[in-house]
Amino acid sequence: MATYTAPVDDIAFLLTRVFDFDATMAGLPGFEEVNAELAVSVLEEAGKFAAGVLEPLNRSGDEEGCTLENGLVTTPKGVAEAYRAFAEAGWCSLSGDPEYGGQGLPRVLQILLDEMLSSANLSFGLFPGLTRGAVEAIGHHASAELKATYLPKMISGEWTGAMALTEASAGTDLGLLNTRAVPNGDGSYAITGTKIFISSGDQDFGGNVIHLVLARLPDAPKGVKGISLFLAPKFLVHKDGSLGARNGVNVGALEHKMGIHAQPTCVMNYDGATGWLVGEPGRGLNAMFTMMNAERLFVGIQGLGIAEAANQKAVAYARERLQGHGADGTPGPVAIINHPDVRKMLLTGRAFADGARALAVWTALQMDIADRHPDATVRREADALVALLTPVVKAAFTDFGFETAVASQQVLGGHGYIREWGMEQYVRDARIAQIYEGTNGVQALDLVGRKLGLEGGKLPQRFFALIKADLDAALPAAGAALVTPVAEALARLEGATARLAANGGAIEAGAAATDYLRLFALVALGWMWVRMAAAATGEAATPVLQRKAVLARFFVERMLPQTLGLDAALAHGAPSLMALHADAF
Ligand SMILES: Cc1cc2nc3c(=O)[nH]c(=O)nc-3n(C[C@H](O)[C@H](O)[C@H](O)COP(=O)(O)OP(=O)(O)OC[C@H]3O[C@@H](n4cnc5c(N)ncnc54)[C@H](O)[C@@H]3O)c2cc1C
Repeated sequence: MATYTAPVDDIAFLLTRVFDFDATMAGLPGFEEVNAELAVSVLEEAGKFAAGVLEPLNRSGDEEGCTLENGLVTTPKGVAEAYRAFAEAGWCSLSGDPEYGGQGLPRVLQILLDEMLSSANLSFGLFPGLTRGAVEAIGHHASAELKATYLPKMISGEWTGAMALTEASAGTDLGLLNTRAVPNGDGSYAITGTKIFISSGDQDFGGNVIHLVLARLPDAPKGVKGISLFLAPKFLVHKDGSLGARNGVNVGALEHKMGIHAQPTCVMNYDGATGWLVGEPGRGLNAMFTMMNAERLFVGIQGLGIAEAANQKAVAYARERLQGHGADGTPGPVAIINHPDVRKMLLTGRAFADGARALAVWTALQMDIADRHPDATVRREADALVALLTPVVKAAFTDFGFETAVASQQVLGGHGYIREWGMEQYVRDARIAQIYEGTNGVQALDLVGRKLGLEGGKLPQRFFALIKADLDAALPAAGAALVTPVAEALARLEGATARLAANGGAIEAGAAATDYLRLFALVALGWMWVRMAAAATGEAATPVLQRKAVLARFFVERMLPQTLGLDAALAHGAPSLMALHADAF
């Protein structure tokens, strides 16, 4: 059976030919020594770890699952050892702040490592992923004392992190949450309440589990304004950093779920747990958003990672499986990869994965610029572009990722439905990424309701102008057959954006959101394919470059036209969605 191979050649292509990674890094203080050669060699090693250590645990972890006995979580065989080896090899600290022991490497490398983890073992990837999100929130909002106590051990991976927002009656609408925090009089708080669906809520790797918990102070107003953020560790920590007594942070149950079985998704009881305020009282959601934004990009990358792994396996299977005669008259049985419909499924997954990786690298470059560029205006502009792209990456990548998992399963026919081949696990694992970290519907509302209005409504125009400039620059190398359809799709997106701005209103925005986000994503992917096609021409065509040229054409001819249908649907607006009374459904 085929095993996962990290897409290092494609990464090298992106960093050296599509994006001028070396020049961007040279302009960012602290990254002057970072270049594509270094990045590729680091990621080559990451790929070996993902393929050699994590992928072999993917199926056994899925079949064994996690267990809870006497309040203690046990992860499947091999996971704890793999986690410790991962942390010891320094992978947890890759992009961590050097002030707290991190290696301080760029986000671009982090995002590509995250993709490999998601391809090899999505359940495993959540442990370091959630820890990193918690580190971001603590790093931005906690006191110096909390940072000094918790960040070094979280960045090294010795301690893991969890985010505890959701309650039985408070999911999307966190304003409804009931968990309480009462001052203890010594600067700490007693936290009481039950959270559900908490990923990485506990583990058996050793060390500590640091929970970031949303709760209400006494007398806090109702709704989101009354929410504060607290840090509550599984073990209290002595002044010297050693572990003390167990805190009132208890796993009540493990959720039984469709996929990611090697990941302990916990019902958490905070039984008067000692916690400390992170950020200001009543500003908890703001502080948590730092974590959620980092996590949303990470979740988008999970969609890409699963798509990459599923597509690789489907291609390997389709080359071997003999069925039917060739559509060109070749006597059978022929390998199914020769059938046009099978090719369409494989090419759709590949065109998504390669396009999404390019867009992910572009977004991560903006994050690095936003973190480090010497010019404050450049930093602010890059940060706004990341804000605009975050819901698009989260929702579109996980939707396309799931669709790719299903199409890859389809390539295997009945064998795709049987456990042995691993394809049904990709389908089950990919599905959650469309739901957690804010459902994809809610991401779409974030895009139309909040992000399009940033910079007084000028942010989307700035983004569209950037795409236009790139399309013009790519025209001589990529050719009109590729560039013109993308420019036309961009015009459709601009039209839909203008209609939304003119029609306004929450109902129109809500009715348009999901289709609009997909239209936006297809244009952004088309933009990336034009850039890749332009970068792939000119010199001796290696197999990688030839493949890029064909994939660019496939994307533009066979996937981009979806923008026509989306635009037509959007033009009709909300009336037919809102016409039926709730009782009449
Ligand atoms: C395996 C797993 C792991 C998870 N990990 C974590 C974790 O680590 N920490 C954590 O805190 N939570 C976690 N969650 C919770 C997850 O983030 C929520 O399930 C998710 O945000 C949706 O909330 P909900 O389930 O209450 O759905 P609801 O909010 O009830 O939503 C139901 C449906 O209604 C739609 N909807 C809701 N409100 C609106 C609106 N205003 N406008 C339009 N549509 C709307 C939604 O899009 C969705 O389709 C996890 C969940 C799962 C299943």
